[in-house]
Amino acid sequence: MTNIKTIGQLPKLVWMNLKDLVEKRKVVLVANQTILDSHHELLTILNNPKTLSITSGTKTDADKLINELDGYDVVYAIGSGRTIDVARYLASQKNKEIVCVPTMISSDAFLVNCTGLRENKGVTYFPSKAADLVIMDWNLLGNIDKKYNIGGCGDVLSIYTGLWDWKTYDSDYSESVAITAKGILEGMMSEVDEIATGTKKGLEAIINALVMEVELCYLYGNSRPEEGAEHFFAYCVESKVEHFLHGEMVGFGILLGAFIQGQEVANMRAFMDKINLNYRPSGLTKEIVIETLKELPTYVKDHNLVTSVYNNFDYQSNKVKVDSFIDSILN
Ligand SMILES: [Zn+2]
Repeated sequence: MTNIKTIGQLPKLVWMNLKDLVEKRKVVLVANQTILDSHHELLTILNNPKTLSITSGTKTDADKLINELDGYDVVYAIGSGRTIDVARYLASQKNKEIVCVPTMISSDAFLVNCTGLRENKGVTYFPSKAADLVIMDWNLLGNIDKKYNIGGCGDVLSIYTGLWDWKTYDSDYSESVAITAKGILEGMMSEVDEIATGTKKGLEAIINALVMEVELCYLYGNSRPEEGAEHFFAYCVESKVEHFLHGEMVGFGILLGAFIQGQEVANMRAFMDKINLNYRPSGLTKEIVIETLKELPTYVKDHNLVTSVYNNFDYQSNKVKVDSFIDSILN
């Protein structure tokens, strides 16, 4: 049969206290040492699981861990977006069930069914699997430094620049999907005070927006409605800056991308300021931004990324205004 269209499925999501979990199966627990040190009870709850920690997001390192799953029934991934991303990849390679417990909502990694792994200075998306179950525990999510969950807004705010690229460069643009995406973006932005304060209601607004956005992308067929110039900047800059939060770099990418696209920036920046989304990731300098802008036209083509404002962007002929914009953001 040709013309098969499958609509991806969101994982089952449950809000519960992890302490109330009953697990009888043989577990591989993917979590970093900080989580294990601060939550000893997890080892009892999960029947003294075999533990693995994820120290990098490269495909080479991930592949080394695949066989560690042999002989176990279920994978639990407890931690950040990267831990969850890589664990879903491992589970898919061995066809294991996987339960994801995000300790922060810093990206949409706990909702999606693919995994971005680093290869050759770039990010390649591998089909992996969605979590079979996502457990959200307010005791974990509400106790972490607010900046991590606020970073999760980046993957919703990216709709702003993603839609512009899509509408401008793609004949497959769908106005109805775009209007829905815009509604998701505006809905989240309407909860500015709750998000800024870090309340449970604010966190739910972020999670709900991420959930709706991922489902919308499944319905449409790819992530075009929420991914464009801002993400491509974040991918390209990745090898030049150590340890940054995805949502924060995407935040910077949105401001810069919107400026280059000729879109209004002030409202977006004001929203980021109000919620305290740090769009000046540490380690990101003006020099690095310029170097990245010069590389982007080649980078997006080499990595077969969909068309965005960077495909034909010429830094030199925009130098004066772009430089002063970068100064206004980074200083
Ligand atoms: Zn993202």
